[in-house]
Amino acid sequence: AKSKGGGHYCFFTEKMRTNADRILKKELELRHALTNRQFALHFQPQLNLRTGRIDTAEALIRWNHPTRGLVMPGDFIPFAESHGLIDEIGDWVMTEAVRTAAQWQEQGVRLKVSINVSPKQLQRVELIAMIRANLEHYGVAPSRIEIEITEAAIMRDEGHSFERLEKLRDDGVTVALDDFGTGYSNLSQLMLLPMDRLKLDKSLIDGIANDQRKWTIAIGMIRLARDLGFQVVAEGVELPEQVELLEEAGCDFIQGYLISKPLPQPELLALVDAFQAK
Ligand code: C2E
Ligand code: CA
Ligand code: CA
Ligand code: CA
Repeated sequence: AKSKGGGHYCFFTEKMRTNADRILKKELELRHALTNRQFALHFQPQLNLRTGRIDTAEALIRWNHPTRGLVMPGDFIPFAESHGLIDEIGDWVMTEAVRTAAQWQEQGVRLKVSINVSPKQLQRVELIAMIRANLEHYGVAPSRIEIEITEAAIMRDEGHSFERLEKLRDDGVTVALDDFGTGYSNLSQLMLLPMDRLKLDKSLIDGIANDQRKWTIAIGMIRLARDLGFQVVAEGVELPEQVELLEEAGCDFIQGYLISKPLPQPELLALVDAFQAK
């Protein structure tokens, strides 16, 4: 009786089971990574175009996998988001970033750490309390940290997100809108967000040096953001020609491989020193 279509049924359950096994395995591996301290933060410097110094670094997570080596966040952060692991990983990132900020503060290093907060984390009621508790525990001034959020995260739950971001900003934490230019939100709506900085996505920066229309869009965005009182960070800057144009447009910060790839903390501090000495 089960002949017709039965084969398909079996095929799909097999496939589903392997898929479920794979998911379970990855979940366990990530939990194991958390308890066994396999995660690390690397830091990518942002060059302040007005001062010529590095005063902010973005914390980016890495996974030191026992067999696969250094695993990049694209391989596990989206997975963690959709499988209920992002809160725990996000908490680890927050604690580690604030602990690092405390070290810099103690060593007299004038460097703010910028921390990626995923959409799921922003939806959590406990986020603010968790950030405050970390700052207090490590004795870190709120102005030494920034959080980076994407427009999708805010638009998902506008009222609450706004409120949470306002609270953080009242404390002195700065807020950056990440990946600007990749979403579909209404521009005028975006410009009303409770934030301090706007990070122009690499896709907007690519090609500004050789495509007049891309350059026109970028310069328009930068001027608009600055006129509204936001600082502008250009992401994914790889070429000197881009820097010239971005300076001309009034961009405040540049981040990208031209300055440096994300680095482990000691290398980052050496680079910061080299820029201070210039
Ligand atoms: P993002 O927040 O947009 O971070 C910028 C990404 O672009 C980083 O990749 C960085 O290494 C890369 N990048 C920077 N400059 C250049 C450049 O000049 N050229 C090119 N080709 N790439 C550049 P990474 O570290 O692989 O991170 C990827 C994404 O993973 C991040 O994108 C962010 O969305 C997510 N992520 C990383 N760390 C965390 C974290 O701690 N928490 C959360 N929630 N997400 C994280
Ligand atoms: Ca970011
Ligand atoms: Ca970004
Ligand atoms: Ca991104």
